[in-house]
This record gives sequence, structure tokens and C-alpha cells, in this order.
Amino acid sequence: MAMFSLAGKRAFITGGASGIGRAVAEAYVSQGAGVVIADIKDATDVADRIGADFAKIDVAEEKSVADALGNAVEMLGGLLDVVVLNAGVGDVGPTLQETPRELIEKVTRVNYWGVLYGLKHAPPNLNDGGSIISTSSMAATINLPGAAVYSAAKRAVISMTEMSALELGKRNIRVNCVCPGYVVTTLGSGREGKQISEAFTALGRAAEVGDIVGAYVFLAADESGYVTGQALRIDGGWSCGPTEALLERVTGSARAPG
Ligand code: NAD
Repeated sequence: MAMFSLAGKRAFITGGASGIGRAVAEAYVSQGAGVVIADIKDATDVADRIGADFAKIDVAEEKSVADALGNAVEMLGGLLDVVVLNAGVGDVGPTLQETPRELIEKVTRVNYWGVLYGLKHAPPNLNDGGSIISTSSMAATINLPGAAVYSAAKRAVISMTEMSALELGKRNIRVNCVCPGYVVTTLGSGREGKQISEAFTALGRAAEVGDIVGAYVFLAADESGYVTGQALRIDGGWSCGPTEALLERVTGSARAPG
């Protein structure tokens, strides 16, 4: 039997209209899952193209999250097996002191509360033995000045992942999150992300969505049946430490000073 098959599984993916979420949706369909893409943007065309269904959602609104999950169960004809809480906004830039209230609220509501609402309302719509996968970020563990609110929200995702894993283990529901470094999408692309990835990662480049989706397939599949409460870093080696190129730039030598 082929490994990592998702045949017969029903999956719900927030932020599935573009970027990482869309790539995950495509991968899940190709592995045999029935998929509902849920997004604040109308993604009916995307869903049609890849053989999925579309449900409107605003993850910042609790009722919208609960309704969309319920709609997905109806559309797919049964309780879900996989819920991917991936929708997010990437607003970074100001220091903590300079961050306007509107931006604090937007990033917190979408990136933090959006996942919280998903973790709260997914379980009644999931089969026992299901899998919940959230998208956190390397920003949860490596701080870059100017990303305080974003980083805090993404760190909260790791905390909620661990908490939910403890609470849902009795139903054999697994809860994990993925922490990508910079990924070339509308949110993560741009010159700075590329430059930082070239200097800070062992692999010397930003990720493409294709570098990331395999983790979501693995975490959804039965082969990851003993993996729960984990934050899986997919960062090209960023978290290993400074690269030779970076040391060279700072000290003039690619070796640790002796
Ligand atoms: P993207 O902009 O391509 O996709 C984000 C999707 O979320 C969009 O389709 C958008 O419409 C949707 N969305 C935004 N607000 C929403 C809301 N309130 N309700 C429902 N849907 C909403 O960006 P992406 O890079 O694919 O981002 C996906 C996730 O990955 C985000 O959580 C992001 O924080 C995270 N992430 C991205 C990177 C990166 O470099 N691209 C790195 C680490 C983590």
C-alpha cells in the first residue's frame, strides 16, 4: 500500500485560497482526500480547478469558524478527519511601541484567535483519530525586530497546540503545528525575506510551497499516528545557528573565533 495515502479522509483547510493553504489543498486532493477550502476570499474557482469545495470563513469571528466547520461536514458528507488551521496575515514592521491598536487587533484576531477558535470548534466536527495541523512560524521561536505582535501570536499557536494535544489525546486526535521559515507566497515573498533566507539558513534560500506541503501530508496521514503536540520547524536550517556566510560577514571568518 502506498504510504501517506489520504484516501477516504475528509479535510478542511483555512486560508486555502492561496499560498501554503492552497498547495496543501492540492496535495490532499492528489492523495485522495475530500477537501473543503475555507477562506475569507472567494476561492470557488480555485476549489473547482483542484477538485475541492469552498466555504466562506472569517477566522477572526468565532461564529464564522463554527459555521464553516459545520458546513464542511455537510459538504463532505460526514465528520472530518483533518483540520488545517492555516489562515494568517503577515503584517509586521513597527516596533512594539509603535504598533497601532488596529494592527495589534488584526494580527491577534486572525493569527492567534483564529487558531484558538479553530481548536475550540474543530473537535465536535472531527472523527476520533483525527488530526489538527496549524500553521505557526519560525517567527514563534526566532525573534526579528519589528515582528513582535506576529511572533507572539505564532508562539501562542505552539502553546495552544501543546494544550490541545493534551486535551484531545483521549479521543486519539492528534494536534501539531508547522513552523515555516520564509516561504515564497504573497505573504512571505519579497526582497527582505529572500535576503534573510540567503544569509540565515543553512540551505541559503527561501522555501517554495513545495518544500512545505509534505509535512502537512505526513501529519494528516496515519503514518504520523504517534506524533502529537509537536511544532515541526521547516526552516532550511535557520534554527541551527548562524551560517558560515553570516559569520564571515560579521567576523571576516567562516569559523567560530577561537
Ligand atoms: P497567503 O497570503 O498566500 O495565504 C493566506 C490566506 O489566508 C489567504 O488566502 C487569505 O485570504 C487567508 N486569510 C487571511 N485572513 C483571513 C481570515 N480572517 N479568515 C480566513 N482566511 C483569511 O500566505 P501564506 O504564506 O500561504 O500564509 C499561510 C500561513 O503561513 C499564515 O498563517 C502565515 O502566517 C504562515 N506563514 C507564512 C510564512 C511565509 O513566509 N509565507 C512563513 C511562516 C508562516
